[in-house]
Amino acid sequence: MERNELWQATLAKLEPAISRPNFITWFQETGIMGVDAGLATVYVPNGFVKEWLQNKYHKSILHALREITPEIKDVSYVIARPERGLSSIQKDQAKKRRSSAAAPSQSDDASIRELSVDPETNLNPRYSFTNFIVGSFNELAYAAAQSIIKNPGIGYNPFFIYGGVGLGKTHLIQAVGNEILKQFPQKKVKYLSSEKYMGEVVDALKNQEMNRLKEKYRAVDLLIMDDIQFIARTEKMQEEFFHTFNALYEKNKQIIISSDRPPQAIATLEERLKSRFEGGMIADIGVPDVETRFLILKTKADEKKVLVPEDALRLIAERIKTNIRELEGVLNKVVMSAKISNTPVTKEQVEKLLVTHALTPKKFVSAKKIIKSVSDFYDIKERDLMTSSRKKDFVKPRQIAMFLLRNELKFSYPSIGDRFGGRDHTTAIHSCEKIGEELKKNIELEEEIRLIREKIFSE
Ligand code: ADP
Ligand code: MG
Repeated sequence: MERNELWQATLAKLEPAISRPNFITWFQETGIMGVDAGLATVYVPNGFVKEWLQNKYHKSILHALREITPEIKDVSYVIARPERGLSSIQKDQAKKRRSSAAAPSQSDDASIRELSVDPETNLNPRYSFTNFIVGSFNELAYAAAQSIIKNPGIGYNPFFIYGGVGLGKTHLIQAVGNEILKQFPQKKVKYLSSEKYMGEVVDALKNQEMNRLKEKYRAVDLLIMDDIQFIARTEKMQEEFFHTFNALYEKNKQIIISSDRPPQAIATLEERLKSRFEGGMIADIGVPDVETRFLILKTKADEKKVLVPEDALRLIAERIKTNIRELEGVLNKVVMSAKISNTPVTKEQVEKLLVTHALTPKKFVSAKKIIKSVSDFYDIKERDLMTSSRKKDFVKPRQIAMFLLRNELKFSYPSIGDRFGGRDHTTAIHSCEKIGEELKKNIELEEEIRLIREKIFSE
């Protein structure tokens, strides 16, 4: 097979598993330089892409390549330009991908509302404080947000907010942006996810527009960076962000950052960034209690102008416990099925719907999934969990993985030992006890394990 075809076929295999913007960011202008003695050499446009592909996509790339050409045993990445530019197929495909990425799908009303996202600020007007419910689970974050709106840049800077998926981080930080713009229309506000930021840096490098990008970000009054945990995967991105961060911070410009975990739990986050974040205000968003969940549902049902009886809402609030997005999802299903059958919503209907909702498989939890989640969380390779290395970076994650196999899947100690490179069952016992003991006194560890569990049971 010609190498261009080989790469196109590989990309076709990779694409479905990767979001469009990511796919474009990391795979445009890549290609195969050659295959020699089982080693495929992939060219990439710059160092960022190289680091990212190596760290994050290496396994999937190798796997996809091998499915097509089993002789390939490994992949290396080099920074290079293709000799004769991109093939016309590649250009065509890139163009297609780009235009389809730009055209939002109109399949549901949420994405139609997304259309009103302001291209300058990236803010979506649907996120406001008028539809944001405050309870004890998020009141600290809410109070900090309010104080920032009164005095941006002066009080809590940076403001670091963290919490599990679907608990309102994006909603809250976007609402701050919207509110600040309302009160100070002359201020320059920018919201973006760290993944989008990385994409912009990669593009700027490619087009030698790094200075322009730097200026763009240094000119803002309020920078809101969502999901910063992704940036921790590459040092160069952190470096870049650190400079922008400092430039803004020194000018007393407000910075708001969100993450799925506190700074000290982002394993690969550089110390200087960690300490900068810790120097500001850190607030977490927890899980809403049942009353608050009920209130959220009630508000959302009113917003939709549909009548859902209170006992039905209460039932949903009791069953769906840890994710506001999921609460909304169930409510949408209820409303939809009432519309289809053209009957008012009843508690009995909701009960039935909740049963099917609960039965929808939440992805089977396997030992593999646990091991993958642990290694992803600590940003180490799965095989490092299996080796006998006593390196501190590996020992703790390994013990946690063993602990989770025991606790979540009830694995026997000998089988845990087996899974981890043929260790003795006493090692497995020791690891599980050690983590169990440690959990009683170490809140950080508890938080880390909570996040790993969330990863295991999500997706
Ligand atoms: P996260 O960014 O933490 O994953 P989001 O901000 O995307 O979560 O919130 C998920 C969904 O739940 C969004 O539709 C959001 O509007 C809604 N939501 C989250 N928190 C609240 C809240 N306190 N009140 C009302 N709706 C909320
Ligand atoms: Mg979010």
